[in-house]
Amino acid sequence: LASEVSRSAATPMMEQFIEIKANNPDSLLFYRMGDFYELFFQDAVEASRALGITLTKRGQHLGQEIPMCGVPVHAADDYLQKLIALGYRVAVCEQMEDPAEAKKRGGKSVVRRDVVRLVTPGTITEDKLLSPSESNYLMALARIRSSGAEPAYALAWIDISTGIFRLAETAQSRLLADILRIEPSELILPDTVFHDPELRPVFDVLGRVAVPQPAVLFDSATAEGRISRYYGVKTLDGFGSFSRAELAAASAAISYVEKTQLQERPALGTPERESVASTLFIDPATRANLELVKTLSGSREGSLLRALDRTVTSGGARLLAERLMSPLTDPERINERLDSIEVLVDQPSFAADVRDALRRAPDMPRALSRLALGRGGPRDLGAIQAGLRAAAAISALLSSAPLSAELTEARDAIAALPADLLARLDSTLAEELPLLKRDGGFLREGASAELDETRALRDQSRRVIAGLQLQYCEETGIKSLKIKHNNVLGYFIEVTAGNAGAMTDTDPGRARFIHRQTMANAMRFTTTELAELETKIANAADRALALELEAFEAMTREVVAHAEAIKAAALALATIDVSAGLAVLAEEQNYARPTVDRSRMFAIDGGRHPVVEQALRRQAANPFVANGCDLSPPDGQEGGSIWLLTGPNMGGKSTFLRQNALIAIMAQMGSFVPAAAAHIGVVDRLFSRVGASDDLARGRSTFMVEMVETAAILNQATDRSLVILDEIGRGTATFDGLSIAWAAVEHLHEVNRCRGLFATHFHELTVLSEKLGRLSNATMRVKEWDGDVIFLHEVGPGAADRSYGIQVARLAGLPASVVARARDVLAKLEDADRKNPASQLIDDLPLFQVAVRREEAARASGPSKVEEALKALNPDDMTPREALEALYALKKEL
Ligand code: ADP
Repeated sequence: LASEVSRSAATPMMEQFIEIKANNPDSLLFYRMGDFYELFFQDAVEASRALGITLTKRGQHLGQEIPMCGVPVHAADDYLQKLIALGYRVAVCEQMEDPAEAKKRGGKSVVRRDVVRLVTPGTITEDKLLSPSESNYLMALARIRSSGAEPAYALAWIDISTGIFRLAETAQSRLLADILRIEPSELILPDTVFHDPELRPVFDVLGRVAVPQPAVLFDSATAEGRISRYYGVKTLDGFGSFSRAELAAASAAISYVEKTQLQERPALGTPERESVASTLFIDPATRANLELVKTLSGSREGSLLRALDRTVTSGGARLLAERLMSPLTDPERINERLDSIEVLVDQPSFAADVRDALRRAPDMPRALSRLALGRGGPRDLGAIQAGLRAAAAISALLSSAPLSAELTEARDAIAALPADLLARLDSTLAEELPLLKRDGGFLREGASAELDETRALRDQSRRVIAGLQLQYCEETGIKSLKIKHNNVLGYFIEVTAGNAGAMTDTDPGRARFIHRQTMANAMRFTTTELAELETKIANAADRALALELEAFEAMTREVVAHAEAIKAAALALATIDVSAGLAVLAEEQNYARPTVDRSRMFAIDGGRHPVVEQALRRQAANPFVANGCDLSPPDGQEGGSIWLLTGPNMGGKSTFLRQNALIAIMAQMGSFVPAAAAHIGVVDRLFSRVGASDDLARGRSTFMVEMVETAAILNQATDRSLVILDEIGRGTATFDGLSIAWAAVEHLHEVNRCRGLFATHFHELTVLSEKLGRLSNATMRVKEWDGDVIFLHEVGPGAADRSYGIQVARLAGLPASVVARARDVLAKLEDADRKNPASQLIDDLPLFQVAVRREEAARASGPSKVEEALKALNPDDMTPREALEALYALKKEL
């Protein structure tokens, strides 16, 4: 290090630095110098601020002082973690040769250095940098434009810490929703797309997560070749068929992984295509407002995920989060998952045994991924070993119990693990494993005869040294003489300064003590005997470490060779963990299995809010009041029903609205639900406009946000959707607001024909139920007692007769004089309203005629030929060629 420091003042090193930095302009460069990673120039300024470390200076460049800061190599992970969390990317530049080599070349030769790794938020593998219960996705977005058609979009996402690789097509309108559903840590996209003004709002929301890359990375012409090369296959036919946009996204993701990992290739699974129609569409505002995986304030505590998570492994926790983020729309697949929970609910002690065994299963995919990347340590092998052992135990448990189809499949995946691998790890690895392989000591005795021999030699030499010490004490008569060891001198003899004279005596018998070093209070010597022993010990230690490292590489190769089987088994374990966790939850919280089918039913009996219910129980407050909800189409009709919910503030309207959305999500992710019974026809899209999701930071007023969100709902909701609207039209003048809410309800009922819940303050709206056949009124019941209101939190039929706003204000502690004055004002207003009530509107105003007439016209003439033909097509089953032919055929029909 000392020689490094003096050399660094010279320009060659700076030249080297500047060249390497120029190749990595968008990353902070961690430049290895001895035991430190140093940062220079602007990097140093930014990193010192971000990490709170001291900024110093080193030498000059072009007459300016060079700012510098550094982090010790042994603590680098912690600093990396901080930087990554802040959204930085880091290029790690290592010394590629021993400094002695450079010295040998003489003159101004600088140690060869190279960037060995780019650390970016989406491509990390270290446990310290990752959260165990969250997936860490790198996502690539590709866009293919073709003349005359809408551009095609596709997403590819990879978790290199587990090898998961998925693909899906998307569209501009649902781009943000799909990205947020997967929640990547890093999204790469062509710079041309990034700078497209139309998409600006999407990338504004994503902030630092979106990273523009040169468009060539997304070239679709070379995509197939690049992917085939990565997997070492001739063609991708074996993986399925992919669209051009999907190929471009997949190849960009792979190229980026290669670019960031430089030397190593992670063991990626083959790309799996996910059809977007197979997952419940949840728009971004709804996802945020329903607080599925984090609350609006960004905390994981208080989210639905926290309330549902009873998993005991990190793989299980990740899978549960994924299921919650992407509920299904296919009743068969949903019921497969529900079957698994049911068999486990029916066998509670079996479920408990399985969970006990799972608790001992460490995170195999992440350990595997590090091993495949050459970044693994002995504990990663240990994790695979413990995982295989837990798998064997679970396999035994599963062989004797009745299982669901999904669990049977999981059992088979676990049984397919190579049995000899565990035996080999057991016979090779020691009980206690060091973190780093270079520390050695991770092979057990008996694993290698040569290693045992070398270790014996080392231990024996140590005994010889102890004997020497005794001998030297006697020879010199110095009782305090010690043989010690340090990294600079190796073994040496140490005596106090006062005794040194006796050692340097000219007595020929003692001349064999060779002086090495003089300290303040001591003097150090060696002997030829000691030096020889030293060499022997050092050689033995080197040999031992070499043997261990060899064995490590061999074991790693063997484990990585079984990567596919291990990953499949790990997914199976995660599946079992999720099912068992949800079974325990169902039991503990008294949840019911929902009936999920292709009908348009939405009939919830005794429904509860899963998060609020648990919170109330924790606080030992009054228990949650269960409420039913029925939005099924009335007999003989097709469109879903809408409930118009009125009631005072604090009555429980928002809670009721949200609980029904959450029950739908839980049912479709394949979980039991907080209800006495539930029958749900799969929902294709879930929309909500609840709470005040303030978007003021983006410079939009609350009212504007509300209208944008409402517009999205009215434009996109289908007759299979579920729509939850809370107090539309609140942010403007009363009549404006009332009119907008009025028109929105009519539109939902007549055009969208979806199932919906509509909470409102505008009691005037309740008259709409006279005209709209599938609209019914419901209200949160309250009791009035002595001028106060008592909230019963019960939903009942009918409309609230009053708002109780003034009573609620009084409960909140508004001054009595203000409350009294408000009562007077209210009385006057109500009086005026009686003379000219809004309810008169229902008689005067014809109902949303345009839409109704259009619909009636369509129904009268029946579907056209083109419509019939279109209905018969299933785009997911078509090759691009078939799709093109179908398009020509359709065009002819016109
Ligand atoms: P609103 O939207 O009508 O103003 P909220 O849904 O915000 O009312 O509910 C107000 C309070 O009442 C909340 O603190 C909630 O915990 C409680 N609450 C709501 N519904 C229930 C219920 N069904 N059982 C028990 N407490 C409830």
